[in-house]
Amino acid sequence: MIADINSVCTYCGVGCDITGQVQDNKILKIYAQNDGYVSQGKLCIKGAKGFDFVHSEQRIRNTRVKKSFIEKNFDEMPRELKARAKTLKDFDEEYFETPYEFTTSLAAWKLSEIKEKYGRHSFCGMGGARTSCESSYMFQKFVREGMDSPHVDCCARVCHSPSLKGMKPLIGEGAATNPFDDIYKTENIIIMGSNTTEAHPIVSNRIIKASKAKTAEVTVIDVRNIQIGKYGKELVIPYEANLLVLNMMAYVILSEKLYDNKFIDSRCEGFEEYKESILNDPYANPQFLRSIKGYEELADQIPEVARQYANKKSMFFWGLGITEHLDGSFAVMAIVHLALLTGNIGKEGTGLMPLRGQNNVQGACDTGCLPYFDPDYATPKEIGLMTPELIDEMLKDNIKAMYVMGEDIAHIHPNQNKIHKALEHLELIISNELFMNEISKKADIVFGVKSAYEKTGVYVNAMRRLHLSQPLVESDLPDDWEVLRDIENKINGEFIYETSEDVWNETKEKVYSRFHGATYHKLSKNRNRGMQWPITKEDTPILHLEEFRTESGKGYFQYHQYKLREQIEKLVKDIPFEKNEFYLTTGRTIVHYNNSAQTRHSDALNSRYDKDVVLASKEDFERIGSDQIIMKTQYGETAILPVKYTSKIKPGTLFTTFHHPESKINYIFGDEADELILTARFKSLRVEVESA
Ligand code: SF4
Repeated sequence: MIADINSVCTYCGVGCDITGQVQDNKILKIYAQNDGYVSQGKLCIKGAKGFDFVHSEQRIRNTRVKKSFIEKNFDEMPRELKARAKTLKDFDEEYFETPYEFTTSLAAWKLSEIKEKYGRHSFCGMGGARTSCESSYMFQKFVREGMDSPHVDCCARVCHSPSLKGMKPLIGEGAATNPFDDIYKTENIIIMGSNTTEAHPIVSNRIIKASKAKTAEVTVIDVRNIQIGKYGKELVIPYEANLLVLNMMAYVILSEKLYDNKFIDSRCEGFEEYKESILNDPYANPQFLRSIKGYEELADQIPEVARQYANKKSMFFWGLGITEHLDGSFAVMAIVHLALLTGNIGKEGTGLMPLRGQNNVQGACDTGCLPYFDPDYATPKEIGLMTPELIDEMLKDNIKAMYVMGEDIAHIHPNQNKIHKALEHLELIISNELFMNEISKKADIVFGVKSAYEKTGVYVNAMRRLHLSQPLVESDLPDDWEVLRDIENKINGEFIYETSEDVWNETKEKVYSRFHGATYHKLSKNRNRGMQWPITKEDTPILHLEEFRTESGKGYFQYHQYKLREQIEKLVKDIPFEKNEFYLTTGRTIVHYNNSAQTRHSDALNSRYDKDVVLASKEDFERIGSDQIIMKTQYGETAILPVKYTSKIKPGTLFTTFHHPESKINYIFGDEADELILTARFKSLRVEVESA
């Protein structure tokens, strides 16, 4: 019998509703229903075709322990584990296939031993956002309560942490303020640092529709020409200039008195100092751009964009092109200022829209998988370290064990030569995963776990929408939270949960101010539409209607001057690059999701893009003189990569994706990162190119 089961897409933060057509425990097809609330009847290629990974031969369908780990630890093991270790069966040259019950006991014993020997701070947890809120909640609880360590972090470290850092202190929440459908109610849309058609395709569908229907004007601001730019005005700006451009927009709004006095007076604080600082900052005047060769036009274009933003009902969308910079958090604050200045917030058809990456990265942050926030963004009893700091502590032998849940730290984070060295210092790595990715290959203990299409759980998309996902197919594998429960129960015996609903009932109470009213019952009744937090009796499509969610209820201005002057001064002087020097920026292609954890195991997707490719302008392609290159920095070098030319990039700039670990793209990035929150500067890197 064929069954049609409703669930949620496992890939990006748009969080499309999906329907899986299933027969004999096999997914035959995934489609969107015409009345799908998020999908609006359409899925992108990942959602529609990228489900074959579920049935892949490569899936980890067992529990494995490295033979070298057993050998190294054998003498120290308790007698019972020793006896069972002697009976283990080979899985391959490197691993034993191990019974689940033995493996949770082994993990519990080794974690306890490390804690006793090196102290509670010697353990850290690295969560991902491909799993449900239930598992993310359980993960931080495992780290904080089970292991008594403050060191829990998640993949938001390499994506939207600066959005949270930039938004929360100013308006009380680090999340999108309005629903995606407000795109049909706005008059003006700015997209900055987001390649929306590739990274958030179903949101870009709405923007394209609004542009074609002429209900909204669209402006795209980026360092290169991107597809969504065809549907509006495009401003190509210099590298590292986001904060500069945003402050210039504010300067225009202030100097031309386009701001909303009534809104500022009644709802904001800190305006006068902010105004004074910006009007006295020589770098905030757009006329400064007249001195930058190749970007002179911006001196007229930026004021036009600013006027339009102030005079119309406007929405502002951004992605990692804003956050993955040295001043990412400050750039987010500058975006918030624009909304506060013009009253483009707290109303229908306006708002701030950080396009968050993975389908549950919002949920992972809401449930407390961050070292400085407990569930519901409460202050933890002890603040832990962020991932780059943890790497440094591994190198100093202060961290000795790490639990990784669906986050490939050995591929997707920057400075991989350093990370690989740091991992060698650990005595224990445990990984919950679907496939043997780079971190699982390094893990001593690997738990094969359920994928999103095999389990029940709540996911929070990029517009704060909670969706209760149900399994499309059955699987005997454990869910992430079950593995954590079973290990914890052998350490302390305090995780008493039978079902994912048990875990959710606790999660929603701990994330009280956002999730409290969202019972499984209510969420399943709203399975198609979902519900946007905060959820009490009803949900909340638009945030900040009457007041901001700060303690005082006010929105704050906090000016940050653009600091990367050296960069801009180089451009002013038009210092030519050395013959083989370029700026590199990175991004995604529509067929893959980030480290391609699932998409590279989907033939339907991977066959369309099985190699990372470098794109260069025609002039640069000729300058390089080869279609195969290696990129180098002081931190390392990439593998040999194919290079192609494109008309979409200005000379001096290269672009590449980072989906395939063999490309070794993240080996050339160093520790340069957002100064407040350590999100890596993936969007701008000076590289040396060698032809190969
Ligand atoms: Fe899935 Fe995102 Fe594509 Fe929607 S836009 S189908 S959520 S990958």
